[in-house]
This record gives sequence, C-alpha cells and structure tokens, in this order.
Amino acid sequence: MNEEQLTARTREFIGLHVVQSADLLRTEPALGRQRLQAAACAGLTGIQVPEKLGGSGLSFRCKANIATILAGADFGLAMSWINTHNVAADLARWLDQPIANTWLPGLLSGQMIGCTALTEPLAGSDFSAIRTVATRVPGGWRLDGEKSWIINGKIADVMLVYAQTQPGQGAPGIACFVVDARRAGFERDSQSSPSSVASSFTGGFHLKAYIAHEAELIHPPGTAFSRALASINGARVYVAAMCCGMVAESLRIANEYGQSRLTFGKSLASHQGWRWSLADAAIDLHAAQLMVAQASAQIDAGKDAQDLAAKTKVFATRMAQRHIAALMHALGAQGLRDTYPLMRHLQATQVATLTDGSTEMLLERISKNLNKTLGQ
Ligand SMILES: Cc1cc2nc3c(=O)[nH]c(=O)nc-3n(C[C@H](O)[C@H](O)[C@H](O)COP(=O)(O)OP(=O)(O)OC[C@H]3O[C@@H](n4cnc5c(N)ncnc54)[C@H](O)[C@@H]3O)c2cc1C
Repeated sequence: MNEEQLTARTREFIGLHVVQSADLLRTEPALGRQRLQAAACAGLTGIQVPEKLGGSGLSFRCKANIATILAGADFGLAMSWINTHNVAADLARWLDQPIANTWLPGLLSGQMIGCTALTEPLAGSDFSAIRTVATRVPGGWRLDGEKSWIINGKIADVMLVYAQTQPGQGAPGIACFVVDARRAGFERDSQSSPSSVASSFTGGFHLKAYIAHEAELIHPPGTAFSRALASINGARVYVAAMCCGMVAESLRIANEYGQSRLTFGKSLASHQGWRWSLADAAIDLHAAQLMVAQASAQIDAGKDAQDLAAKTKVFATRMAQRHIAALMHALGAQGLRDTYPLMRHLQATQVATLTDGSTEMLLERISKNLNKTLGQ
C-alpha cells in the first residue's frame, strides 16, 4: 500500500468509526479494541513495519501525516493507534528474537494491542528515577512495581516495560522487557482515563512477582535508557503533527461557521475583527506544519533530530493551545457544544504538553543545545 491509499483509507476509517462524538467519551475496553482492529484492517498498524514482515514499509513522514489526520478527528484515538503501531514497529526491528514473532502478527492484525510504559506514580519527567525493579531469577527476571498514565494501559495485551535492574544506579541500570498482560503477576489498576482523551484508554498497572523470560529482555541495562530517548524524538514530532491536525480541523470548522452565522446583518466572516483571528491561526499553523515536515525529513534521513524535534513540539503545542482557544471563542457559545470537537481538542493540547517530554523538559534540552545550534 502506498501513502496515498493509506490516507484515503484513514479518512474512510474516520468516517466509519470516529463520527460519534459521544462514543469518544466511552471507556469500555471492547470499544477501544474494536476501533484498533478496524484501524488494523485499514492498514494503519504496520506503516513503519517492513513489507516482508507484513507491514507497509512506509516512512516516518507518512506516519506523521496519518497522525495529523486522525488527531483532527480525535487526539485520544490517534494516541491509542500510534502507541500500538509503535510496539509493532519496535518489535519488527528486533525480529531476530523469537519473542517478536510471538507478538507481531497479532499487533498487525489488531487482535493484539500494545503500549509502552515508562511513567510511574513517583517518576514522570525524571525517567531515570523509576522504581519498578527487575531482579534476576533462574531463567529470567522477576518484575515488581507500578506503572501509571500509560496510553492503552486499560486494553493492551503486550507492554514494553522499563524497569531498574540496579536500584540506585539510575539510567545505566534501566532495562526494557516485553510483558504479557495475560500472565500471573500482572494486574491493571482502576485509574480512570481523563475524559478529553477517554479514547486513548490511558491507565496503569501493577507487576507483582511477574516473571519475564530471558528472551523477553529486549534492551539490556546500559542500552535501554538511550534507546528510549532515541525513539522519543519521533514521538515529539508526531505529537506536534497531531497538534497541527487539531488546529487545522478547528480552523476548518470556524471558517465554515463564519460563512453562515449572521451578526449585525452580515456573516461573521464579513467582520474584519472576527476573520483576523482565523488568519492568525492559519499563519502559525503553517509554521508548525513546516517544522513538522522538516523534523520528519531529518528522522527519515537518520539524522540527529533531537533539537528540532524538541523545538517543533514546544512550538506546535503552544500554537494549538492558543489558537484552538481562539477558534472556539470565534464560534461563540456554539463552540462549547460537544457536537464540535474544539473543547475536546483544547483539553487534549494540555496532554500534548506533557507526553513524550513536557514543555519544561524540552526547553531545558533546547537551552542546553544553544552553544551548538547557535554556532551552526
Ligand atoms: C493522557 C496521558 C497519557 C500518557 N501516556 C504515557 C505513556 O503511554 N507512557 C508513559 O510512559 N507515560 C505516559 N504519560 C506520562 C507522561 O509522560 C508524564 O505525564 C510526563 O512525563 C510528566 O510527568 P509527570 O506527569 O509525573 O509530571 P512531573 O514530572 O511530576 O512534573 C510536574 C510538572 O513540573 C515540571 N517539571 C518537572 N521537573 C522540572 C524541572 N526540572 N524544571 C522545570 N519544570 C519541571 C513538569 O514539566 C510538569 O509541568 C502520559 C500522560 C498523560 C497525561
């Protein structure tokens, strides 16, 4: 499948599965699974998985474009989809390991759902402070700890879980394991997903004397921390792409509304003071889209995208917070109605400022790079 076909299928998928605004607030696991299976049928769960392994073998840019379209309809669903996709793509990279073969077909067909778990109740921004412990036992590792705020945490079958093998050692002791949610020692918690991103099925889980086999250690201590940070650049760019998708959709809605709503005998769009707020949004949206395109090209070229990915996410999330609020205001009271996605999108921008590196963490990263980047 090529990018054009995938884009058409994504729009068709949205038309069939994301039209009911009220459904997006529902949290029954069956609904989340049903949507991801439909996304898999549309070919969305294997975009970056090589063709020889059952995927489409397409680029990061293509994934970011699909993320833009899906988030325009629903950010929570876009995050749910991309997180299960990423587990498939990550496992495909390590397919020489038999464990990847166990999960990949199910993830590609949508029968299985994946998630990636770094965050814990006592460790978010400071990833090196995680307390989930991995202890050596004959034939594998025993995992004990708690993960929280994990997208798909309520419905995932397979988790990439980061744990500390040498308590007190920080980053070098962290390893990554494949965890099977059906096995003894795994228990989901009852934390509810924030309603604005209910369709992300965000939740937490406990590991109590959970045994991971030796082959399920996918990144050993010494490599797991840096691998997590390497993949996070892509995550920052697709979150920025999703912000662009939400602003583009809000702008489209406001523009349409401005043609039909009359005030003082004229359409809203005829009032200069009203339409300038849309022009402002269009300018900043374009700038954010260019940043996403440039950062995506760097990732596809295998270049170091750390600095641009951080700048792109900070710019796009702030742009979305400012302009979705302004576009909602441009619809007057109607903008608050659930029939429009603007309130949901606005709340989702708050999530976007936290996931995959909060704004403050990214500003810290960008400021530490200044000597290098200003010298370019
Ligand atoms: C809906 C949702 C889905 C998520 N999905 C996932 C997932 O799939 N997998 C996963 O592992 N995690 C996930 N997360 C967790 C997310 O990555 C964390 O929320 C994020 O890392 C911030 O951690 P925290 O919430 O614990 O905030 P904290 O780390 O406690 O920080 C609180 C505030 O202080 C600021 N802050 C912290 N340290 C500093 C500092 N040194 N200087 C200045 N400011 C600072 C932060 O920016 C933040 O604003 C998700 C979160 C949400 C809300």
